[in-house]
Amino acid sequence: MTTPRIEVDLSKIRHNTRYLVERLKARGITVTAVTKAVCGHPKIAQAMLEGGAVDLGEARVSNVKRLRGAGIKTPITLIRTPLLSQADLVVGSCSASFNSEVDVIARLAEAARKTKFVHSIMLMVEMGDMRDGIMPENVEAIARQVTAMPGVTVRGIGANFACLSGTAPTTSKMNDLSAIASHIEQTYGILIPVISGGNSANLPLALGQHSGGRINNLRLGEVILLAVESVSGDKINGLFTDAFTLITEVIEAKSKPILTKALFTDPALQALRLVPDNNHAMRSILAIGKQDTDIAGLTLPIGVTCLGATSDHMVIKSIRSHPRVGSALKLQMNYSALMRAMNAPDITKVILNETPFKKRSSAHRDGPDVALV
Ligand SMILES: *Cc1c(COP(=O)(O)O)cnc(C)c1O
Repeated sequence: MTTPRIEVDLSKIRHNTRYLVERLKARGITVTAVTKAVCGHPKIAQAMLEGGAVDLGEARVSNVKRLRGAGIKTPITLIRTPLLSQADLVVGSCSASFNSEVDVIARLAEAARKTKFVHSIMLMVEMGDMRDGIMPENVEAIARQVTAMPGVTVRGIGANFACLSGTAPTTSKMNDLSAIASHIEQTYGILIPVISGGNSANLPLALGQHSGGRINNLRLGEVILLAVESVSGDKINGLFTDAFTLITEVIEAKSKPILTKALFTDPALQALRLVPDNNHAMRSILAIGKQDTDIAGLTLPIGVTCLGATSDHMVIKSIRSHPRVGSALKLQMNYSALMRAMNAPDITKVILNETPFKKRSSAHRDGPDVALV
């Protein structure tokens, strides 16, 4: 079989999604399944929907196009604020988008007025991660402007944590976000149905004793795909961590001199620290490199270590029997490695355990989601 390849076990994705959906449902929280790390792969998205996610979240219009092109009709929310230049595309392919810029919302409204659909606006609130979001003190004024724009409606507010700065969500931040929503509702006499508390980093809080406030939605990617909670890096019990496996092939296996650090007294020679010594050791080369994935984010089989990597080669050594030319090695990926590998054209994606029943048409909901791009 072709290498390098990623084997994706959809039964594990379905299980992980279902497990999280059921636990969060007991807390009154729905799951938006985020597909950006798998580049909007339609079959993986479908598995997440089969696991009970209410809708999909995507960061890029290109990935949304891929999902729509494969016939997925479920509502998709753009979770990155739209590019001003993509307003028409966003309105044509997504039922909702997260926003933090009034000018962009105005453009979306203009684009929506050209269609028969109303585009839903999720107001992203800055709550400490210092990436995207409206400063809390300005949310109300922006909500007022948006409610006056025909073509769009304020459907929800949300926050995001632990992406840029590692700021974790807390009960008090969830309460603050809920209070902003309630205040806008009272002031403008509108209903804000969706309060989206955050991403995978929110999971421990949402399932904990004091989840906080009116949070009724989370946008989950990493925890569904890899079963790890992003702030602590802890594995979530009850979930599969190995839904994805990267399989690489050995293209060279040789005994070579070991490079050792030489001691130079002359500082000018410090740059030439590594010199071959008389001992030899077996090392192998895998046909994968920095161009394909984040090498530092790969976990090798027990007893195998990475000696280094270049754009197309990854050099390894093994304390056990040495992998021979042509043999395959299975690696696990963290989020960063997965995200890049899913986007690598030279890595084949092999889908395992697709649903046995025929291509199920995804649950059809009302709204503008049927529009194709
Ligand atoms: C990436 C992202 C998510 C999903 O994050 P995970 O850590 O993969 O769960 C949710 N919301 C926003 C705004 C994002 O950018």
